[in-house]
Amino acid sequence: MAEPSLVAAGEEPEERAIEAALRPKNLDDFVGQHRVRKQLSLVLQASRMRGRTADHVLFSGPPGLGKTTLAMIVAAEMNAPLRLSSGPAIQHAGDLAAILSSLSEGEVLFLDEIHRMSRPAEEMLYMAMEDFRVDIVVGKGAGATAIPLELPPFTLVGATTRAGLLPGPLRDRFGFTGHLEFYSVPELELVLRRSAGLLDLKVNSAGFAEIAGRSRGTPRIANRLLRRVRDWALVHGIEQIDARAASAALDMYEVDKKGLDRLDRAVLDALITKFGGGPVGLSTLAIAVGEETETVETVAEPFLVREGLLGRTPRGRIALAPAWTHMGYAIPSNVFAQEQLDLFEPGVEAPATGEWAPEGQ
Ligand code: ADP
Repeated sequence: MAEPSLVAAGEEPEERAIEAALRPKNLDDFVGQHRVRKQLSLVLQASRMRGRTADHVLFSGPPGLGKTTLAMIVAAEMNAPLRLSSGPAIQHAGDLAAILSSLSEGEVLFLDEIHRMSRPAEEMLYMAMEDFRVDIVVGKGAGATAIPLELPPFTLVGATTRAGLLPGPLRDRFGFTGHLEFYSVPELELVLRRSAGLLDLKVNSAGFAEIAGRSRGTPRIANRLLRRVRDWALVHGIEQIDARAASAALDMYEVDKKGLDRLDRAVLDALITKFGGGPVGLSTLAIAVGEETETVETVAEPFLVREGLLGRTPRGRIALAPAWTHMGYAIPSNVFAQEQLDLFEPGVEAPATGEWAPEGQ
């Protein structure tokens, strides 16, 4: 398999430490997401005024947009301790019971990737969220008994990249749901300004704009690219990072002007040069770029679809007109006609493209 790409790279321990250091600690420092911020602020303020534990909160949206950061802010704003866990770590109801029974009053429990929790644990969570109580089952078969266990009031903060996969009963038990949107370029510039300040880096406005434009609407990626630009500037002895330096650095890391990385470009290039722009099946496309089907589908495709570069049709993937231009090819005259045919073929439903899958980070 090819090297992991920069934008979807796994987190190194050092990167995690830096990411933690760059996290905004309160709602005022949290950039963008105005609607969610305003609503959440009200929920938290009202709980504080009533002297009550805050309602359960769910954050949904693609990876790297700030769900974990907001969970930490909820705890900080409520002046409450925070416990971190995740859906995949809770495979048995007993795992959840162990966590719940050790919570202190008012504690904030953050469950990342909550849609990946096991079914029995999920059912236990319903009762815990609603009645602050769980039934611990002791013994097996006919002799099994359920021992009720009272829990202190706590706040559950759930995060999911796939809100559509959450069962209704679980979704309904959250008092507040915030859906995070991708960030605009000016918002990402603000994220970068803040991070550059914390990392003691000199970057001018054009430099920030250059990095923000390549960050795929995602603060985590913006911060990651900033660190790579910092490395490049250090090695090249550049004190103040401007657009030229940022551009040269990110070109070297194969992150292009639109934020496409090596894999994204390989997918589009194969689609255009090997399959005449498609339609072509996903698995064939994945083989052509030497990647797993799942990697192409979950890492490259959501962004390419969102950018209007790639289309998903009942007959396979197609390169849309802007993809030809972006990759430096002339748009063949039949592309528009073909797109119309494939995208709007009557009576055939195109596959859903709305869900966001984890980017392996
Ligand atoms: P998620 O949990 O949605 O995957 P995180 O909360 O871990 O995302 O955010 C990833 C990184 O991006 C954090 O380290 C934080 O520094 C940065 N970040 C996310 N949202 C914001 C924001 N609104 N303002 C500033 N930085 C942000």
